[in-house]
Amino acid sequence: MNLDAASIREDFPVLDRRVNGHPLTYLDNAATTHTPAQVYDVFEEFYTRYNANVHRGIHELSHEASLAYEEAHDRVAAFLGAEGREEIVFTKNTTESINLVAYGLGRRLDAGDEIVTTEMDHHASLVTWQQIAKRSGATVRHVPVTSDGHLDMEVAHDLVTDDTAVLSVPHVSNVLGTVNPVEDLVDLAHDHDAYAVVDGAQSAPTRPVDVGAMDADFFAFSGHKLAGPTGIGGLYGKREILEDLDPFLFGGEMIRNVTLRNSTWNELPWKFEAGTPPIAEGIALGAAVDYLDDLGMENVRAHENDLAQYLLRELEARDFVETYGPGVGEERTGLVSFNVEGVHGHDLSSLLNDRGIAIRAGDHCTQPLHDRLEIPGSARASVYVYNTRTDVDRLLEVVDAARDDLD
Ligand code: PLP
Repeated sequence: MNLDAASIREDFPVLDRRVNGHPLTYLDNAATTHTPAQVYDVFEEFYTRYNANVHRGIHELSHEASLAYEEAHDRVAAFLGAEGREEIVFTKNTTESINLVAYGLGRRLDAGDEIVTTEMDHHASLVTWQQIAKRSGATVRHVPVTSDGHLDMEVAHDLVTDDTAVLSVPHVSNVLGTVNPVEDLVDLAHDHDAYAVVDGAQSAPTRPVDVGAMDADFFAFSGHKLAGPTGIGGLYGKREILEDLDPFLFGGEMIRNVTLRNSTWNELPWKFEAGTPPIAEGIALGAAVDYLDDLGMENVRAHENDLAQYLLRELEARDFVETYGPGVGEERTGLVSFNVEGVHGHDLSSLLNDRGIAIRAGDHCTQPLHDRLEIPGSARASVYVYNTRTDVDRLLEVVDAARDDLD
């Protein structure tokens, strides 16, 4: 079923804004998506009706807040295909989720262990595992990216060995739009008794995800990239692995018993949610996944693909534009990175902003990938459920004008 972007837009009043005298054309969704009324209404309801701390009080407001916050874990579990709320830890974002895993697993690593990541990893993963390696003495290896923007799976098979303790890969590249063969990568890790960690920041918002079928040990994602609020994200972890993993943060909420000398941990997932959590944000995350569920993630994928293929086809038809990642007809998500010959990405972004069009320019937190592509940076346009071909056409008009200005 095709998404009806025109009616979806009615849920997102921000899209009625004008920027620099033009209608807002928002094409920076891979960075942060907008939030529909169904999600931000949660904040008003929470703060006007049942704002209270969770798990602590036996009064009515605390009871309602706890119930809604806990149920949000159930909704996210269902959205990702997890077995239940025990497997869903709420965090601040993907970055914190990866740090939670890395610090937990990192304590078990030492010299001789290897961590395998990829050249297309976001800094959230790359830098975190680098630091864990420095502290533990483990070595980090990187699966290279081929010239057509895929992971080199042949090299991946050579790099992952019985010395590999962790394989950490992005499900979808936030620059190339490549959808990695994550099931194969997870199998590869498990064949060598390594943990498989999947960065789902760009996949959870854009396609159906089933962590059970994927068999990943961990899957990290951010709420603000899937129509949810900022300040909330999550980590899926297999129950038996989370049970065995040391907490990353300590304090209230995450304990069962405390004496002056020792403490024991709360049950899952609260063991990993120290202190007062972002309660309204968590409940709103539940509303965001409900919103996407109602649209249907298959439909979201098809809508993004349609727009991305259109944009890619148009850009590739211009000989003064270089695009990166899988080409027309290949599977990818709704983000396209490119450069216009002779125009710096920041200048292009600024020209677009003058026309009310939002994209992103720079290294997109993937400096090593840009080194691999031998470019200092790129412009990235990314669509979501409310974008239309008109948005893409507006972008293309400015791309052409930027080029014409050079002549
Ligand atoms: N991983 C990928 C692939 C991303 O695209 C991003 C965000 O751009 C992140 C991790 C980090 O997400 P956050 O800043 O929400 O922690």
